[in-house]
Amino acid sequence: MFYDNHGRKINYVRLAVTDRCNLRCFYCMPESGIKYMNREDLLTFEEMERMLRVFAEQGINKVRITGGEPFVRRGIMEFLESIATLPGIDHINITTNGTTTGQYIDRLQAIGIRAVNLSLDSLDKDRFFEITRRNEFDNVMETFHQLLDTDINVKINMVVMEGRNIEDIYPMVLLTRDHNVSVRFIEEMPFNGTEGQGNTTFWPMKKILDHVKAEFPEVEKLPDPPSSTSRNYKIKGFKGDFGIIAAYTRTFCGTCNRIRVTPQGTLKTCLYEGGGTSLRDIIRSGASDHQLTDHLQKILSNRFKDGFEAENDRKNNPVSESMATIGG
Ligand code: SAM
Ligand code: SF4
Repeated sequence: MFYDNHGRKINYVRLAVTDRCNLRCFYCMPESGIKYMNREDLLTFEEMERMLRVFAEQGINKVRITGGEPFVRRGIMEFLESIATLPGIDHINITTNGTTTGQYIDRLQAIGIRAVNLSLDSLDKDRFFEITRRNEFDNVMETFHQLLDTDINVKINMVVMEGRNIEDIYPMVLLTRDHNVSVRFIEEMPFNGTEGQGNTTFWPMKKILDHVKAEFPEVEKLPDPPSSTSRNYKIKGFKGDFGIIAAYTRTFCGTCNRIRVTPQGTLKTCLYEGGGTSLRDIIRSGASDHQLTDHLQKILSNRFKDGFEAENDRKNNPVSESMATIGG
C-alpha cells in the first residue's frame, strides 16, 4: 500500500494520456502558439499499462483517464480495453470533452466503464463557442444524451466564470431536475497556459452555492464520500444532484488520496506543484518493477501537505501551465 508522509493512503491516479486537444477552452489553453510535446517524449501505452500494473499492486485501484482530450490519441480505445483487465483496477473513469466520445460508448460499456465526466461549460451554443473557440456544441450534447441512455454514471464539469457562463448555473441545476446527472461547478484555476489569472472576478465555492440557493432555496446537503473533492447537494425532488469543487480555494487537500501522471510521464503528487518526478526516465533507464515501486514510495514520503504549500514552493515560477499538460 502507498501512504504519504501525512498518513494519507493513495489509491487513485489521474493519468493524462495526451496533451493534445481539439478544443481551445480559454481557461485551459491559448488559442494559438501551443507547443505540443514530441510524440517520443510521451509515455507509450505499453509504459502506461506497466505503470498502472505496478500502481495496482500497491493498492491503487482507481484510475481516471484524462488529458488533453483522451479520445484524440490514436489507440486510446484499445488501451482502455487492455487496462480494463488489469488485476486490482476496480474503477476506470474518464474525463472527456465529448466531441468524439459518442462513437465509443458501446465499447466503453462493454469494458465496464462506470463513470464519465463530460466537460460542458454552457448549455447555450454561442456561449459554448466563445468558451471553447470551436463549434462542437451539437456533438457534445449528442454524446451527453447518448450517455444518459446507458447505465454509465454521468457527471458534467462546468468551470464557473464571471462574464462567461454565470447565466448557465440555473439551467445546469434544472438539468438535474429531469435527468439523473451530477453537475459539478468548478472554481476556475490559473492553469490556462498563459501567465496570469483568466478572470478578474473569481467565483469561490460559497458564492456559487449562495447563487444557487437564491433561486433554489430547497437545496439539501448530501453526504460527501471520503476523499471527495466536491461538496455535494441536491434540490429536493430532483432526479440528479450537483456538487461544487473548490479547486482554487483548496478545502479538500487534507484527505487527498490522488496522484497525477502527466502525458510525458511526470509524477505529480499535487496539482499545484511546479516540478515532479519523471517516471518515464526511471522506466526507460531499465528499472525493475521493484525499483519503480521503491521510487514511488520515496516520492510519496516527501509529499506536500496541501496545494498551498506546493504552490509556495514554486517561488518565481507562478502557476501558468495549461491544464492539458498536467491532466485536469
Ligand atoms: N479534455 C477533457 C475535458 O475537457 O474534459 C479532459 C481534460 S480537461 C484538462 C479536464 C478538466 O479540467 C475539464 O473538466 C476542465 O473543465 C478542467 N479544467 C481545465 N482547465 C481548468 C482551469 N483553469 N480551472 C478549472 N478547471 C479546469
Ligand atoms: Fe481541451 Fe479539455 Fe482543455 Fe478544453 S478543458 S481545451 S477540452 S483539454
